[in-house]
Amino acid sequence: MKPIGILGGTFDPIHYGHLRLAEEMLELANLQHIRFIPAGNPPHRDTPQVSALHRSAMVQLAIADQPAFVLDEREVLRSAKCFTVHTLRELRAEFGENQPLCLLMGGDAFLQLHTWHEWEQILDLAHIVVGYRPGFTLEERIHSASPKLREHYQQRLCSVDYLSQHPYGGIAELAIPKLEISATLIRSRVAENRTIRYLLPATVANYIYQHHLYISC
Ligand code: ATP
Repeated sequence: MKPIGILGGTFDPIHYGHLRLAEEMLELANLQHIRFIPAGNPPHRDTPQVSALHRSAMVQLAIADQPAFVLDEREVLRSAKCFTVHTLRELRAEFGENQPLCLLMGGDAFLQLHTWHEWEQILDLAHIVVGYRPGFTLEERIHSASPKLREHYQQRLCSVDYLSQHPYGGIAELAIPKLEISATLIRSRVAENRTIRYLLPATVANYIYQHHLYISC
């Protein structure tokens, strides 16, 4: 069964780094579709600069021409704090116990996984698929991670085929060139009145200017 990909983030704003990561993972992990889930009130980082409504609208614009990308607004519509593990429980209930689910993330996010709420339960609900820069394997960097995370990584490392054959529990690595783009960079460039062209889709850049977002940061 083709796995469903899940890409959470603040998307403050969404940019080509996120979109390329998703596009490469869609292809390399042979995913059925990818659900982009903007965080409502992210528990493990600073409050986003702009409202969930704006962040969600920008994701919708960015993914409009890729039918395999879907906006999932469940976290932004919830008023309570919400954690990835809760979202995954909901998705598991909706898609059934046999559907492979893959939580997608960059290598930097994976190395911080042990700071997430009930992080070990995540692996009982979904696989984790990590994008790492070609030439810099995760194996080299995992030594700096928490011992427990290292243990899970060593025991659960799996092939792409495993992702479609099992509903959850594996950790797969995919070599994906990382674009040197971050939402932080885009916010500060807008605040400094510098160009953001080609860092994100033009539709999203236009939305930022129309709504006067990130003028101060
Ligand atoms: P900020 O600069 O505000 O911290 P960000 O650009 O890192 O934001 P997030 O919304 O925090 O974006 O990231 C969501 C996911 O996208 C994370 O798993 C992160 O590792 C991944 N990601 C972010 N930027 C890139 C990039 N340039 N290339 C590949 N993956 C990325």
